[in-house]
Order: sequence, then C-alpha cells, then structure tokens
Amino acid sequence: MSGGDAFREWHGRAACRGPQMVVFYPPDTGEQRDERRWREAQAKAICEQCAVVGRCLEFAVARRETHGIWGGTSETERRVLIGR
Ligand code: SF4
Repeated sequence: MSGGDAFREWHGRAACRGPQMVVFYPPDTGEQRDERRWREAQAKAICEQCAVVGRCLEFAVARRETHGIWGGTSETERRVLIGR
C-alpha cells in the first residue's frame, strides 16, 4: 500500500470529514484567543470520538504538521511532543 493509499484508508474513517472540518483550522479572518480556545475544544471533542485518532496523530507528528488540530492536538502541543 502506498503512502497515499494508507492516508486515504484511515482518513476515510475520520470523524472530522464534512462541514465540522471548519473548527479544525483558524478562520482566514483571524480569531481572538477565547474564540480559538472554543474552536479548538470543539475540534478536540470530535477527535475524542474518532476511530483513527492514533493514526492521525502519528501522521501529523511524522509530517511535522504545523496547522490545525490533528489527532486531538494543537500545533503547540505537537511541537512539545516533537521536542522543538
Ligand atoms: S483524530 Fe481528529 S483530526 Fe484526526 S482524523 Fe480524527 S477527527 Fe480528524
């Protein structure tokens, strides 16, 4: 299975697919700190219900993904995990 096939396999089971994806990334218009906190909490609550949370977090850490909520973590939390 290629990397792209593997991604499609687990991402096809992602709980964030669909309109709820909007809370996983900051809006283009920017956001206040409390809005960000609320948005990230909404996204993390979806991650908690997701069947592929472990695969997602591994993927985001391996790619050093710098934007959005992945595997129940924010950019800042992943930076701590990676140690940078
Ligand atoms: S863990 Fe969160 S970001 Fe990752 S696929 Fe599931 S719902 Fe989406």
